[in-house]
Amino acid sequence: MFGGHSAVPFSTPSRRAAFSILGASVVAGLTACTAAESSTPALTPSGAAGSTEVPGPNGALAVGGEIPTSSASQAPTPTATKRIRKTFIPDYQLPPIVGGLAPVITKIETQHPVVFLTIDDGNIKTPESIKLMAEYDYPASLFLTKDTVADNPAFFNAFKAQGSLIENHTVTHNINMVRQWGYQQQANDMVGMQEYAFQHYGRRPTLFRPPGGAYSNVMRKAVADAGMKAIVTWEAKANAGKMDYQVGNSLRPGDIVLMHFRAEFAADLAAFRAAQLAAGLEVVLLEDFLGVA
Ligand SMILES: [Zn+2]
Repeated sequence: MFGGHSAVPFSTPSRRAAFSILGASVVAGLTACTAAESSTPALTPSGAAGSTEVPGPNGALAVGGEIPTSSASQAPTPTATKRIRKTFIPDYQLPPIVGGLAPVITKIETQHPVVFLTIDDGNIKTPESIKLMAEYDYPASLFLTKDTVADNPAFFNAFKAQGSLIENHTVTHNINMVRQWGYQQQANDMVGMQEYAFQHYGRRPTLFRPPGGAYSNVMRKAVADAGMKAIVTWEAKANAGKMDYQVGNSLRPGDIVLMHFRAEFAADLAAFRAAQLAAGLEVVLLEDFLGVA
């Protein structure tokens, strides 16, 4: 699984994943970003099993010991060693932009025991969420919306310092943007967040998550034109204190998991952690795996 240092940064690209490269407008199967889902905040202490015995990085029962890595592919950033604890060769390659359209990713086809955590919006900002992410040592892709973080953008610096990255979830979070807006309005709502992220977090996002999950070819073009590499949806989500799966009833290698900065953050993260440990997966930063950090 996890090899030692290698001169080969990426193995042969695997294009088996069923990306909807040619698809037209698609609506993701699971709802996202709907406030109605958070009707009963279930704030529980960090009661997930296994929070003390930690055999491997962020608790995963991974093989081999921890190996501080120097990224084999790109120039290591100061946080690279924090995000990826083991040296391994990503066995997946992000599809390129074709015909001006950014690819859409729901799941990563990989043989590695990895799972990707993504956290959206940014409405509820609690010290507890910072503490828990640090305790579990999880890196995550944070798809933030300008309008929901603008009251306290500095809050997210703590996650960034832990190895997470800020990505693009638009300025206004219009969940009907695919239906209501043409190219230019969509592009404006993306570019505004690109610039906001750069201004506050020092990096222009490379990944885009559509508010609500719906996307179209118009959106895919706007994403590519805004300088981003892919639209990222999800395969499973932690919501209302439990896991919801689009396929099966457990996490699988390469799954992209959706969470939100909500009042029930602790309960959602506990549900994710239990599932992650049960599946023996390591939480790895999606951007590192895709080479778009
Ligand atoms: Zn959202």
